[in-house]
Amino acid sequence: MVKKGLNYVIRGGTLVDAIGVRRADILVEDGLIRASEREVKPPKGYQEIDARGLVVSPGFVDLHTHLREPGNEGSETMFTGSLAGISGGYTALVAMPNTTPTIDSPEAVRYVQQIAKDAPLDIYFAGAITKGRLGESLTEMSKMADLGVKLFTDDGSGVQDVQLMRRALEFAKGIGVTLAQHCEDLRLTNGGSINEGAISSILGVAGIPNAAEDVMVARDLELVRLVGARLHFLHISTAHSAEMVKAAKAEGLPVTAEVTPHHLVLSDSKLMGFNPVFKVNPPLRSDTDRLGLWRAFQGGVFDAVATDHAPHHKELKDTTIDQAAFGLIGLQASFGAVLGELHRQLDLPQEDGSFSSGLSDEQLVHLVSFFTWKPARIAQIDDIHGCQLVAGKPANITIFDPTARWRLAEADLLSKSQNSPYFDTDLVGKILYTIVNGELKLKEGELCL
Ligand SMILES: [Zn+2]
Repeated sequence: MVKKGLNYVIRGGTLVDAIGVRRADILVEDGLIRASEREVKPPKGYQEIDARGLVVSPGFVDLHTHLREPGNEGSETMFTGSLAGISGGYTALVAMPNTTPTIDSPEAVRYVQQIAKDAPLDIYFAGAITKGRLGESLTEMSKMADLGVKLFTDDGSGVQDVQLMRRALEFAKGIGVTLAQHCEDLRLTNGGSINEGAISSILGVAGIPNAAEDVMVARDLELVRLVGARLHFLHISTAHSAEMVKAAKAEGLPVTAEVTPHHLVLSDSKLMGFNPVFKVNPPLRSDTDRLGLWRAFQGGVFDAVATDHAPHHKELKDTTIDQAAFGLIGLQASFGAVLGELHRQLDLPQEDGSFSSGLSDEQLVHLVSFFTWKPARIAQIDDIHGCQLVAGKPANITIFDPTARWRLAEADLLSKSQNSPYFDTDLVGKILYTIVNGELKLKEGELCL
């Protein structure tokens, strides 16, 4: 049996990383990849992971996780969120700062970093842009940056005050960090719960128009043009916002953007059953928007698939749509949901007996990039995560079966919360091994801590 910390060889897998696709063995010693060659001959006594028929990729990086610690440990902790992450193939998570208290000071950063030291994967923290996320005064970003914070966001809400956002961008540019915006004009949200459209009219539930997102994306693109600072757009949910990001990139503005698995896979028709699990912010949009996002995803407009994993204790979700908390969990099923959707969109055969069930090498690299090296670059952790699978790099590795079809069951959830929207979704691509800094944390699909 392979145990964590041991030296071992990953045998016969298909490597998919920023270099491309190739067959090679990987030798892991003391947390590092020591060799990555067609046939590695390990010293005697080394354990083997049989990766024949499997994809070996850099470990997944989630840019957008809510871990709820400190302050709401009944919904999630750093430890339970890490378990869900490992099961989903993640070796690194970027935790959002909307905890209680907010991660908005060097003291708060030191405190959460201390807890995260014991987590079974690497947790990085985003800091808040404004104190208490109140949108009134800027935090001490440079002092938090000195502690390693690279991303700053008021996620949960966007910075409403345009002058304050301008100053934040100027400051961030000066110290080399990236701001990440949750684009939502709260005056347009106006207490809405779900997407404003045909479904909200039928259900009689107050809606959130696409414009609530689009106006802030448009506003912030103008600020980026003015200031020249980097800006990352969180969870883009409308086709029009995706088009604006595409145009901004074509113009050369320094922007990046993420899309969530749920906005790619699910639409607001899911709310017809009044199930509050599908209430999320930004809301699940119409199928037209969803397909627009899918085209943008396939066309390379986005830079990352990010989960916006937002665990909520049952009490916060088991109520009416308008009362229920926004948010759903995603770490365990995110990759399976996106690959499942890719199979549906490409109308791939269920079983064709081939290694990747009809996906080309190019499609595999494209898919894996959104989960690995692209988000790692945005988080500025690409020296440790999302690296090429070559000698000398840290052994942060995920191994998955690209053809396995599966369903997520409530009993499988490792998160402290059960608000997953994927129980009825066909998932493709099962994570079998997750290796964090050389230590095997998931083996044959089972946790191994
Ligand atoms: Zn958000």
